[in-house]
Amino acid sequence: MSAQRKFDGIWFEPAPWVNGRYVRSDATRCIVNPATGAKLAEVHFANPQIATEAIDGAVVAQRSWKELSAFERGNILKTIAAELIEQKDKLATLLTAEQGKPYWQSVGEIDYAASFFQWYGEEARRISGRIASHPQRDREFVIEHLPIGVVGWITPWNFPLAQGAKKIAAALAAGCTGVWKPAESTPLIALAMAPLFRSAGVPDGVVQIIPGEGPQIGSIMIDHPEVRCISLTGSKATGSKLMAGAASQIKRVSLELGGNAPFIVLPDADLDFAVDQLVQLKLFVTGQVCVTANRIFIPEDLHEQVLERLIGKLESSKVEDGLNDSGLYRVDAGPLIHSQACIGVDALVEEACDSGAKIAYRYVFGKGVRSKSEGSFYAPTVLSHVVDDMRISKGEIFGPVFAIHTYRTVDEVIQRANGVSQGLAGYVYGTDLSVCRRVARRLDVGIVGVNEWRPLKAEIPFGGIKESGIGSEGGTEGLSEYMRVRVISFPTD
Ligand code: NAD
Repeated sequence: MSAQRKFDGIWFEPAPWVNGRYVRSDATRCIVNPATGAKLAEVHFANPQIATEAIDGAVVAQRSWKELSAFERGNILKTIAAELIEQKDKLATLLTAEQGKPYWQSVGEIDYAASFFQWYGEEARRISGRIASHPQRDREFVIEHLPIGVVGWITPWNFPLAQGAKKIAAALAAGCTGVWKPAESTPLIALAMAPLFRSAGVPDGVVQIIPGEGPQIGSIMIDHPEVRCISLTGSKATGSKLMAGAASQIKRVSLELGGNAPFIVLPDADLDFAVDQLVQLKLFVTGQVCVTANRIFIPEDLHEQVLERLIGKLESSKVEDGLNDSGLYRVDAGPLIHSQACIGVDALVEEACDSGAKIAYRYVFGKGVRSKSEGSFYAPTVLSHVVDDMRISKGEIFGPVFAIHTYRTVDEVIQRANGVSQGLAGYVYGTDLSVCRRVARRLDVGIVGVNEWRPLKAEIPFGGIKESGIGSEGGTEGLSEYMRVRVISFPTD
């Protein structure tokens, strides 16, 4: 068995967690800190045998997990929330080292993850069925809401803890068990959750955690007849493959995929406020967020005023190692997840410039801080003269590039905002709230923030339309992803 590792006070092993113990495999992957390139751990990746054992173990564990009362399951979930909060600082340090986001954002991610365990811990007790009338006098229908069974949870690297928490909290509340496959580059925070789950009272086998290669583990989940639902947060390409594979056994899929959010600044917006919020949104996780502002729409005659404010804000931002963050000193953005991501973002920018876009500003890294040469940093960039038919406007940038579009009328901007194949999030900034409401209601997306850059919370359903996905996470709706319905027609006497 691989040795236990201590990361800033958290003990766990960098190996798959199956049936209550860490198991070693023959394949390992080196996990590095994207800000420095420093090696963090050599992680054992699950092979097909370990992945199958994990699913089989979750099948066995589900028999007793679903028999617990909803009250008992809920209490365990609320204990997980409490433990996350208690260990927040240590977990946040690990999260920043592995993912690269500034420490304060990692703290926020732990809080956010805990809020889902808390919410679904409460919501578990509200799962109920109903009695419906039968056309015959001497009968009635009993409508039951039951757990769907064993679930495969597949998560990305940008919110490596919170994306797992959303899925696991809802599924466990519903009475499901499952297998969590974190992203290849960020498995450590998931594996660090194993001892926490155990000490919170989660029985062995209920949550299996298996780092591994996506396509390999994905096809094992697809082929295993006892996996009844696969819940992915990831790219459209992966979503399409999983959906096609799941079709052979008619498995349920829940897909949270990429976005292409419009950020609409209305003519009467408070520009200082809108730009301040835009910078927070866009630098959050260095632009590597599905709901980030991908296309920024500015009224034509406000273009210069917005650029001036935006550049002023970015000049005073700090882009460096997220672990430099402390109570007194706030890092605004960290590195991208790996150097390949920098190359991809750069290609989008170059291509846009070849078609007429202009670099209005590029951040200059300061002296004495981690720079591009050491980690996978990409300088925040303001790109003006961006138009709709450029590749940068059609899909996710996933980097700190502010792509500025201009518009003339509100009707025009709504039409252009909706003219893409994704529909996840949108933002509307203005002072006349009746206009804001009218614009928000016409956006073809799953969630709109009016004068708010981060509306996502555990209490509400979040999910995309069009190529952004199927299903919801959060809120009461998030539970139904993991439930099935059974109806029994009963004689009344
Ligand atoms: P990705 O699809 O490459 O990987 C996501 C996960 O899927 C990883 O765990 C990966 O190992 C796994 N995977 C890859 N190929 C697979 C396959 N064939 N079968 C099964 N699993 C497979 O995406 P990524 O690059 O890690 O994440 C970024 C994407 O996630 C972006 O498009 C982003 O917008 C999206 N995202 C969406 C949301 C949302 O809630 N809608 C949230 C965060 C990220």
